Amino acid sequence: MSGVDPAGRATELREQIEHHRRRYYQEDAPEVADVEYDELVGELAAIEAAHPELAFEGSPTRTVGAPPSGAFAEVRHELAMMSLDNVMSFEELVAWGQRVERSLAGLGGEDGAAAGPARFVCEPKIDGLALSLRYEDGELVRAATRGDGRVGEDVTANVRTIASVPERLALPDEELPRRLEVRGEVYLPISAFEELNRQQAETGQRLFANPRNSAAGSLRQKDPAVTASRPLSFFAYQLAAADGGAAGPEGAAVGSHSAALELVRRCGLPVNPLIEAVEGLEAVYAYCARALERRHELDYDIDGVVVKLDELALQRALGATSHAPRWAVAYKFPPEERTTVLEAILVSIGRTGRATPFAKLRPVVVAGSTVGLASLHNEDQVRLKDVREGDTVIVRKAGDVIPEVVAPVLSQRPAGAPAWRFPATCPGCGGPLVRLDGESDTYCVNLDCPAQQVQRIIHFASRGAMDVEGLGESRVTLLVATGRVADVADLYGLEASSIEGLEGFAALSAANLVAAIDASRQRGLARLLVGLSIRHVGPTVATSLAAAVDGLDELMAAEEATLATVEGVGSTIAASVAAFFGSARNRAVVEKLRGAGVSFASARATGGRRLLEQTLAGRSVVVTGTLAGFTREEAEGAISERGGKAPGSVSRRTLAVVVGEEPGASKLAKAEQLGVALLDEAGFVTLLETGELPPVEPPPPPGASASR
Ligand code: NAD
Repeated sequence: MSGVDPAGRATELREQIEHHRRRYYQEDAPEVADVEYDELVGELAAIEAAHPELAFEGSPTRTVGAPPSGAFAEVRHELAMMSLDNVMSFEELVAWGQRVERSLAGLGGEDGAAAGPARFVCEPKIDGLALSLRYEDGELVRAATRGDGRVGEDVTANVRTIASVPERLALPDEELPRRLEVRGEVYLPISAFEELNRQQAETGQRLFANPRNSAAGSLRQKDPAVTASRPLSFFAYQLAAADGGAAGPEGAAVGSHSAALELVRRCGLPVNPLIEAVEGLEAVYAYCARALERRHELDYDIDGVVVKLDELALQRALGATSHAPRWAVAYKFPPEERTTVLEAILVSIGRTGRATPFAKLRPVVVAGSTVGLASLHNEDQVRLKDVREGDTVIVRKAGDVIPEVVAPVLSQRPAGAPAWRFPATCPGCGGPLVRLDGESDTYCVNLDCPAQQVQRIIHFASRGAMDVEGLGESRVTLLVATGRVADVADLYGLEASSIEGLEGFAALSAANLVAAIDASRQRGLARLLVGLSIRHVGPTVATSLAAAVDGLDELMAAEEATLATVEGVGSTIAASVAAFFGSARNRAVVEKLRGAGVSFASARATGGRRLLEQTLAGRSVVVTGTLAGFTREEAEGAISERGGKAPGSVSRRTLAVVVGEEPGASKLAKAEQLGVALLDEAGFVTLLETGELPPVEPPPPPGASASR
């Protein structure tokens, strides 16, 4: 921005950065997402680069972390615990690689470049907090946090409670170094974090926001018993100093970082198994691309890859800046968290009457897509997360998981913001909302509720059910609001003349809609069952049920116990189906559908001839990510209608994996490992029609082009 005073802006940024550092490092309670903090630091660095006179020794661009909080004894680090320079994209990583190559060529003089590609060690960047461990004659004598890099906090008593940090090194006596200083990351495994939050929920306590903050909060406890109750873990990533025994005098026996890690591993300290030493930058880029793709397969959060030059002599030759080594870099993954304002908490009514609270957010871009709404699931979740209207909240979108409100930023809560209360009445019909004892969900129990009707009709018309072309949410809402239809059967009574002239309906579109509804009469029993919104009956169950009978009448007459014997239908589903047809109201809708000429016949009844050719009989196809032309349910319905199965995970028996937008990394990786074919949406359509795998090129790995 022109007209802004750079000196004034730099001062302002420094104050903000120092504030966020205290919140993050000393109080374990950040107020902004990492990416927002990184943006402040980036802006300050840019100002200092453009105006070198504004840069100085103590600026946050040249310092590390935050001073010790005063809650623990201080520890002066013999060797500074530094930060790392970050690169935020593949392009920046490549630029870093080129700079290092130039520096190395410079070191080697004229023939330096001829020495062959340099060796790098690539390591997952664990998202926890840094810890320095000191062993003397094999015994753990001290553990300290990083603090400001020079002075940290003494957390020895707490670290002694971490099972993966040995009290004594595993080497034979004659190999024990007199002194060994190892650095690494303390973290909370994701499964342990989820278990911790389950316990918090059970005891009605506030949920933790993420594994990193819970790890930091758990380690920096006054009472080691609290730390002991949290299953923290540790990965060593650096040998900072060693003297004697296997390390040789002054560590002389260790010439490379990879050899140092090997020694650390032999000492019995956990070293991450994904760490790899590679030759040359192309291999570094490939490692980073792979790590980005697979970040969600691990049981711990990683926020990037740390790349280090392997040769210690080269490391020493490149040296360090005031706050970070020049021989290493952190390649940061695109962020998955941001903060935004929660504008309102609203309730939506589903087709079964379930009332689901959701957050209306000030739209924010997270992991490449704009997030404006996020489910809050149920009343208890809102209470445990303690999110309130007007709160600044942390929003996360990770992999192909739907966006989530993680936690409020309490320090930013508007004064007097009241706790949210579940509304007593339905936003659709004004009737009471009811939560039964022992249930976590709240329901609108009025079967005439227009909001429920709208959802049921939308579902009935959707592609996986009766597939009525051109009948989506806005049209259904309009038809219900104007009294044209009240239930799914009313659709078949619509005439073009009665809808023409409604908003968005000209003569042609009205006629087209009526024709599309007409065409849906012959979809057959399985799709009709899906369309009726019977609890627990999705495409797979509907196909099994339909295959067991000739038609709907036989199904309605069947005993619950008989239904439960159908393949894939247990007692819960059987009870749900029986209850549905036991309701006079639902039977009335069925009779209206019969009167309207909707086919009740199953594929079995149509002379053994299937409605659709069974191109996928006995085969299994996995769908991952978002497809343009199918919802997940529709895609799975299309597979099961053709005789196939659509399981949730990839195995040796999987015929193909259909890959949509933002696919699940673990499914892709599994498919690649097992050599299962990957299909795009067009390939999927061909497969459905022909049962044949189209000959397609597999998609290139991410970043493959950037590395050329
Ligand atoms: P950094 O996290 O970018 O890099 C250095 C740290 O990486 C090391 O101290 C170590 O703890 C860790 N690390 C993990 N695996 C490693 C490995 N294999 N080898 C070496 N180090 C490894 O730098 P930083 O100076 O610690 O802090 C910056 C980070 O903290 C950024 O992600 C920033 O967004 C976040 N932060 C956030 C806030 C906030 O308010 N949200 C405030 C301050 C800092």
